[in-house]
Amino acid sequence: MSRLARRALLAVAALASAAAPAWAQSFPTRPVTVIVPFAAGGPTDTVTRLVAEAMGRDLGTTVVVENAGGAGGTIGAQRVANAKPDGYTLLLHHIGMATTPSLYRRLAYDPVGGFEPVGLVTEVPMTLVAKKDFPANTLAEAIAVIRRDQEKLNYANAGIGAASHLCGLLLMKAVDAPMTTVPFRGTGPAMQEVLAGRIDLMCDQTTSTTEQIKSGAIKAFATTTPARLAALPEVPTSAEAGLPEFQVTVWHGLYAPKGTSPELVARLSQSLQVALRDPKLIARFAELGTEPVAAERATPAAHRAFWLADIAKWKPIIQGAGQYAD
Ligand code: ASP
Repeated sequence: MSRLARRALLAVAALASAAAPAWAQSFPTRPVTVIVPFAAGGPTDTVTRLVAEAMGRDLGTTVVVENAGGAGGTIGAQRVANAKPDGYTLLLHHIGMATTPSLYRRLAYDPVGGFEPVGLVTEVPMTLVAKKDFPANTLAEAIAVIRRDQEKLNYANAGIGAASHLCGLLLMKAVDAPMTTVPFRGTGPAMQEVLAGRIDLMCDQTTSTTEQIKSGAIKAFATTTPARLAALPEVPTSAEAGLPEFQVTVWHGLYAPKGTSPELVARLSQSLQVALRDPKLIARFAELGTEPVAAERATPAAHRAFWLADIAKWKPIIQGAGQYAD
């Protein structure tokens, strides 16, 4: 082959590779960012950091966790919905992805169409907790105090649509006593206020409360699950404690922006599945009172079906209550 012909061939090859779609080139070639739509130190953050570390090992790159809390998770979700769909910006969000579409009538992003689900991650139980010197030791005693002192008591949440908000609504409905609600950018900072004794009560995932309950830094009145938890065997279930309707688990899922290619979504889902089988992640999840979902639920199709069904489940509840965030 002449020198000229070889040069022409090389030029064609260079052009072809430049024109190849992004997914066909190797991914990733740089760090991936996962946005957590709540503050650092909270349960969504804890789950995300464990998943990010394990996915990073599989992807061979750093998976950076960035906290973008506020407005019940909608600020962080908006960042991802509007991000470039190149696989480098992802969202790890919880059940709020199913309540936001009904709770918020005006959003600067599409809360359903703006995302490509990658896979479910985990379903986390919740606990009703209180500051250490809250004047009750059982749920029955706590309910009596809430009914008596409802005007003086405060309840923390992570904004409208957050799991702590939904759990608080269930509680206040069950005991028929509204309390002053104090919103935070996530339950991480809210927990600091419970520990300092400035917030009376909060509902939060076991991924945030287990260690504080075990060390005696806060009180726990009930889990929101049908059975007691292996990580917290001494805490009664809501039904045992007398409030059977007070049940909620908080699922978490991973998302890419709308328009991310199916090949990239499949690669990310494969990596998520590897992460969810990581022994280190499984062991830490167990210490925090949760476990990864089964592999077949960590696929884009299964996650989409589950997510859409949950949106349909919450819509009549939210619309019936007429409680909108805006
Ligand atoms: N778990 C919190 C909530 O939904 C949010 C967080 O992770 O900080 O209330």
